[in-house]
Amino acid sequence: AKKELGYTTYTFYTKGIQEEVKNSFFFEKELQLAVQNDEFIVYYQPFVELASENLVGMEALLRRKKRNGEIVSPASFIGALEKMNLIEKVGMKVLDKVCHQLKEWIERGYNVVPVSVNLSALQFKNPHLAKNIKKVLESYGIPPRYIVLEITETMVMEDIGIAQLIIEELKNYGFAISIDDFGTGYASIGYLKKFMFDHLKIDISFIREIVENAEDRAIVEAIIAIAKTFNLHTIAEGIESEEQLYVMSTLGCEMGQGFFWDRPITAQQIENKYLKVCL
Ligand code: C2E
Ligand code: MG
Ligand code: MG
Ligand code: MG
Repeated sequence: AKKELGYTTYTFYTKGIQEEVKNSFFFEKELQLAVQNDEFIVYYQPFVELASENLVGMEALLRRKKRNGEIVSPASFIGALEKMNLIEKVGMKVLDKVCHQLKEWIERGYNVVPVSVNLSALQFKNPHLAKNIKKVLESYGIPPRYIVLEITETMVMEDIGIAQLIIEELKNYGFAISIDDFGTGYASIGYLKKFMFDHLKIDISFIREIVENAEDRAIVEAIIAIAKTFNLHTIAEGIESEEQLYVMSTLGCEMGQGFFWDRPITAQQIENKYLKVCL
């Protein structure tokens, strides 16, 4: 009976793998077509200054818009795009769409704020990255001060040599750099001294229980003190409640992003809700 059970489990297991291989094959095929047909759109999520709750920036967040209208979150396909070597293409496309949008807003006289664009670890391995980014902005006539590049500690640590070159080049061109999901990577604090970052985003995992958890508050307090030492602007990710907003501003965090103000929304919604024509 024992053997039989083992056998049954075994066939079940292989069936599972076959199923999985088949699924991932179709998933990748479909994703490839989505890239070919450019089924991607950019959502924007506001950053506000905690003291005034004024709009001070926004993050460009990738979405797939299926032909049936369904909107798909990036968590489900960024990894696959990386594996399929398509993330560079899609990443540059995101930047292109952001610049296109910014140009339109600027031409129509809107008071635009800088847009933060996420980079993938794979993009960060390309020594031409900074030049490629600069070229996209130039093609739209957008000054670099309108774009902030978000990278993670892990990306920097994977190949410090290349990372340093890319970061220096980006800084020379006039781009600001934000260190994303801070506190979740494996980098040492010393690298904040080595690299000239501009913004530090405190990871959502420290914010989630910030009201009730004294340890998280102590961690965030330490992160903000470190950020100040290195002249970095602080942004809290994932603020969802008034209480979290209150604690974060008491701790001296400068800016915030989160569902408390808005989820990532379309460019049109940003325009209606946040942008004003400056005369
Ligand atoms: P991220 O860069 O850390 O982006 C912030 C994520 O936190 C977004 O998820 C946003 O919707 C979510 N978020 C913001 N406020 C709140 C909140 O109050 N509560 C909660 N629970 N979540 C909040 P999203 O849009 O699903 O993006 C997930 C990740 O996908 C991003 O994390 C980023 O790593 C990646 N990603 C998104 N767009 C791009 C892109 O264009 N290129 C690359 N390489 N990665 C991207
Ligand atoms: Mg980000
Ligand atoms: Mg983040
Ligand atoms: Mg995060």
